[in-house]
Amino acid sequence: QAKKLGRGRCVVFDVRMRTRVQRYLHLEQDLRHAVARKQLWVAYQPIVDLHTHAIAAVEGLLRWRHPVYGTISPTEFIPLAEETDLIKEIGLHALHSAIRDLAAYRTRRRLDLQVKANLSARQLDDPHLLAAVRAALHETDLPAAALCLEITESTLMQEPAAAREVLNGLRQMGVKLAIDDFGTGYSSLAQLHDLPLNTLKIDRSFIAGLGGSSDTETLIASIVALGHALDLTVVAEGIETAEQLDTIQRLGCDHGQGFYFGKPVPIDELLETSSVGVGVQE
Ligand code: C2E
Ligand code: MG
Ligand code: MG
Ligand code: MG
Repeated sequence: QAKKLGRGRCVVFDVRMRTRVQRYLHLEQDLRHAVARKQLWVAYQPIVDLHTHAIAAVEGLLRWRHPVYGTISPTEFIPLAEETDLIKEIGLHALHSAIRDLAAYRTRRRLDLQVKANLSARQLDDPHLLAAVRAALHETDLPAAALCLEITESTLMQEPAAAREVLNGLRQMGVKLAIDDFGTGYSSLAQLHDLPLNTLKIDRSFIAGLGGSSDTETLIASIVALGHALDLTVVAEGIETAEQLDTIQRLGCDHGQGFYFGKPVPIDELLETSSVGVGVQE
């Protein structure tokens, strides 16, 4: 009996494994053509100024519309792209789309919005990165200060020296820089102080942990203090409830981002879905 059961389980496991491996192989294969086939697009999520309640920025988040599997999350396909040089093409495509979308949106709606875009580790050693960013800003007339590039804390700490060089180049261009998913890596104060950053984004695991132990509040408060000591704008990611928003505001975060304010949506849906006012350009 046990033997039978065991074998049955084994078959189920096999089928699941095979499906997963097949999906992986298909996605890996199809990702190579995703840019050319125009299947990659950028969704935008509002980032709200917690003092004025206006949208201060939007973050561009890549989406893959796959003909068979439907919409695929970047948490699945970005790691796939990062295994090869494909991340450079895909990353630049996302960056260029975000710059182009925001430039058009700002003109149409007369809004002074900043756009944030994510950079992956392997883009930091792409020799074309700086020139590509400069060309995209020039082509669209987007002011450099309206672009903020996000790099995760763990990426920054992988190659701190190389990262600093690229970041300094971007900084000289006038582009703003953020450290993303902060609190999950192991950066030291000295390293943080050394990087030309403008913004610190607290990883959403901290916000998700609110309401559990009171230690989480203490942790967030000390990250906010650290950020402010370094003169950085502090953003809380992953705000989903009014209670979390209350706490985050009490703890002194400057900006907030999360499903409570709005999910990532196509650029044209941005104003309709967000429940907050918007700052208008002079
Ligand atoms: P991230 O840069 O930390 O982006 C925030 C992620 O949190 C997004 O997931 C967003 O949809 C999600 N999020 C925002 N608010 C909430 C909330 O209230 N609750 C929950 N549960 N989640 C929330 P998404 O879009 O799946 O992206 C995942 C990650 O993929 C990003 O994390 C980023 O690291 C990476 N990524 C996305 N687009 C790009 C890109 O163009 N280039 C690169 N290199 N990475 C990208
Ligand atoms: Mg990000
Ligand atoms: Mg993040
Ligand atoms: Mg993340």
